[in-house]
Amino acid sequence: MIIDQQIIDYPQLHSCEICPRNCSVDRYSDTGFCGAGTDLKLNLHTLHHGEEPCLSGTNGSGTIFFSWCNLRCVFCQNYSLSALGWGSEISEAELATLMLNMQKQGAHNINLVTPTHYTLQIRTALSEAREKGLKIPVVWNSSAYEKPEVLRQLAGLVDVYLPDFKYGHGLYATKYSQAKDYPEVALEAINEMYSQVGKLRFDAQGLAVKGLMIRILVLPNGLNSGKKVLSLIADRLGTDVQLSIMGQYYPAGDSELYPELQRGITQSEYDQVVNAALELGFSDIYTQEIRSSKLWTPSFQGSSELDVEGRSQVFNPSSGDNQ
Ligand code: SF4
Repeated sequence: MIIDQQIIDYPQLHSCEICPRNCSVDRYSDTGFCGAGTDLKLNLHTLHHGEEPCLSGTNGSGTIFFSWCNLRCVFCQNYSLSALGWGSEISEAELATLMLNMQKQGAHNINLVTPTHYTLQIRTALSEAREKGLKIPVVWNSSAYEKPEVLRQLAGLVDVYLPDFKYGHGLYATKYSQAKDYPEVALEAINEMYSQVGKLRFDAQGLAVKGLMIRILVLPNGLNSGKKVLSLIADRLGTDVQLSIMGQYYPAGDSELYPELQRGITQSEYDQVVNAALELGFSDIYTQEIRSSKLWTPSFQGSSELDVEGRSQVFNPSSGDNQ
């Protein structure tokens, strides 16, 4: 399928139930919880060196940050994109070109960040990019607040699923993301991902080629219920799955409204989650040094012309800036 710049009609978006919010709005004339219309909108694309080593490698992960979000956590570190929608519109054909150009630049993979509300449009772009020679793995980097039947439409197009598992209890999912059903929904979504791609596999250089890796961002005061999250995963998927336990929380977004979110995590809080994973029998775990700072978060921009022809904005973590 070769697409041109014409506007594509997606019947499902006339009454959008792409994600568990089930807004039923016509995204051609209105917006629902996520804030997104029908046109793809993205902000930064960059060769990202701050992901797990199997994604960043030596050249970087070809990371594409989409605007808007269907989960919208109050502490989001990409708040300007997820809640404010900073970014520029891009066609499916342009997104396919961008992916191919990132491959030419040496990206080890295409890393689609917060893609859920654009699943149909991204599927169109991915199909075109594959037909035109996209060979590197495609990474679906999502919140896991997704529907299995929608994820099934990505089977064969996505190689690595990289979901966050945000909360183990509906109480906190309600308070910080307005998503009481998050734990059950995320578990079903991740189960579908696992059934599509299986355990994470690596090439000879140690780069991820296919499989599932679940991220757990440790929040202060045990607010993500990390141990409960681990138990849910172990009971449903077993302990053979690759985990990435993240210690990079820092207060961001609207978190100033919540005193309990107003600090980074302690070493003890982080170690408790790692030890719980080990006690349950998980052995494939990426761990991190605690970094309560913005060091690894790229700087985003307001609306501007996107350069899809080649020159990625390269994030250099050593400078703490991506410019
Ligand atoms: S994708 Fe957006 S509009 Fe559609 S159901 Fe989800 S939140 Fe609502």
